[in-house]
Amino acid sequence: MTSSLPCHIIQVISILIICHIISIYTIDTPKSIYHCPLNYESLSSHTWLDENCYWSTSYVEAREKFQSFGDVLKGQLSYAQENGYGMVLDIVNVESISYDIALDPKEYDSLKSNGYNGGIVKKGEERSTSHTVLPGSNTVDALLLTIRLPQGKEDNNEEVNLIHCSGTHGIEGYLGSAIQLRFLHELFLQQEKRLRTNNVRAPPTKNTPVKKILLIHAINPYGMRHHRRTNENNVDLNRNVLSDELWVSIRARDPNFVSYGVYCSCVCFSVHRFILTFKFFFIISSIQQSVDMDSTLNPFNPIKNDKLFSWVDAAREGGFNGDTTRLAMQDEKVKTIYKDSQEEKESTSYDADELQLEESISSINNSLEEVKDILQVLKSVIIAVTKLGYTGAKRGLVAAQYHKPSGLSYGGGAHNGNTWESSIFAVQHAITTFAGFDVTDTNSKTILIDVHTGLGKYGEYTLLNKSTGSEFISKLNSLLKRESNDASVSSGYDQSVGFIAGDVLCPLPNCHGIVQEFGTRPGVAVAVALIMENMGYNTGRRYNHLTSFAFNPMRFSWRRKALRGGMDMIHAILEGF
Ligand SMILES: [Zn+2]
Repeated sequence: MTSSLPCHIIQVISILIICHIISIYTIDTPKSIYHCPLNYESLSSHTWLDENCYWSTSYVEAREKFQSFGDVLKGQLSYAQENGYGMVLDIVNVESISYDIALDPKEYDSLKSNGYNGGIVKKGEERSTSHTVLPGSNTVDALLLTIRLPQGKEDNNEEVNLIHCSGTHGIEGYLGSAIQLRFLHELFLQQEKRLRTNNVRAPPTKNTPVKKILLIHAINPYGMRHHRRTNENNVDLNRNVLSDELWVSIRARDPNFVSYGVYCSCVCFSVHRFILTFKFFFIISSIQQSVDMDSTLNPFNPIKNDKLFSWVDAAREGGFNGDTTRLAMQDEKVKTIYKDSQEEKESTSYDADELQLEESISSINNSLEEVKDILQVLKSVIIAVTKLGYTGAKRGLVAAQYHKPSGLSYGGGAHNGNTWESSIFAVQHAITTFAGFDVTDTNSKTILIDVHTGLGKYGEYTLLNKSTGSEFISKLNSLLKRESNDASVSSGYDQSVGFIAGDVLCPLPNCHGIVQEFGTRPGVAVAVALIMENMGYNTGRRYNHLTSFAFNPMRFSWRRKALRGGMDMIHAILEGF
């Protein structure tokens, strides 16, 4: 009897695990695409009460919904104004704008002095819908809402504006988009109720204060379309927003600044590391020489191009004058592996067609190949974490590098001599020119929220910010009735710069930028997905389903929780500040 007890326990646990997996795939995963019509009648009916309507399966779908909500709110406002119900509504004005990010960023610059002309940006006029957007065209869309403050807030003279951004990291934009759509739908239903009940509010006082809310949708439309985190130039937009001075210094620094390029292979003496190293001695012993984050993060290194990337050349080009010994070691290592792979190629004499044929023999082979790649990448990640510690390895990944355009965590600046990507110019234009925010004006306060996914507990969020200060975050946390932030999420970000919510686009003391980061999968799984996807992008394989898995979980439980967190944040800011 007693000897069979462990057996029973194992059986019960196995059954529970199987039930859990079955429940995920049968109950907790959407089975079909939701058809949620975007006309006036459907939006005010029960169709849209299903939360899944706020989620999109493609960038085009998300964009169409966002634009349609803008149009519907505009229609609602003009109906109210024409029929003398103008004062019934909270919304005073609705404006929209679209930026085609395929255009040369310099055109956005000239836009600043020329107003909105040149056919680049359409304001007020009838906009194109998804049906008229050419396949492959990508736009950043923005909607500006001017809203009357609720009764009792008239005495508060300080204007508090809100900027809400989605899709900075492409694939992460499906949550940000859903939050924005839900907020717009809430506004629409509120106004609709007022219009129906003819609930005329008290006439406003002379200088009724207003709040401006700027929603910027799909900052990285290419990434959202292709389920990538980076944009069409492989740039991480959330590391790209640097001042001119910082661009010069960051390009001239040692590329191995945070161990991205090459890190020390010497034995680490801390007890913790020693134990870890001992644990993984069987892996370490198979590595004869220095291990480096470059090879971990970019496993396609040796096979990518005929012209091999050189860290030494890139560093010198960026203006780095220091010691390049370790960079040269990595270059040598890659060269050796490349030479070996070329010899192997010659001996097996594949041609491109044969290779392709072999790759398409069966999907089982592809899946096996994928599993093999995942295990290989996972092994390198474990080695990196063993060598550098979790925070150290994470720092190497998230601090970004500004030298290797095909590499992971590339912040831009080296691929075409440009610094800011088109999307950043679009965001800047939307904030300062389109919405007319003076983020340095002391009479107003602006709060910028940039929604992200990937790090932290499943469905829960962490508020990250570099300069806003703990007092501001504490106030927000108390408004949101939250304890405090998850420190493990913010660890390793100490050397990261160039955020959308950073002080270039949103400078203190009047503008407070915050990243709202929603947890998805365990950190190691997220890292493996990122490495695999970038490897696939560089070698012609498709691993986008891995980034979808890591950054955009298709589960009702996650969506419900995350959407609620996003809405809580908007409400806290609109009602609390
Ligand atoms: Zn992100």
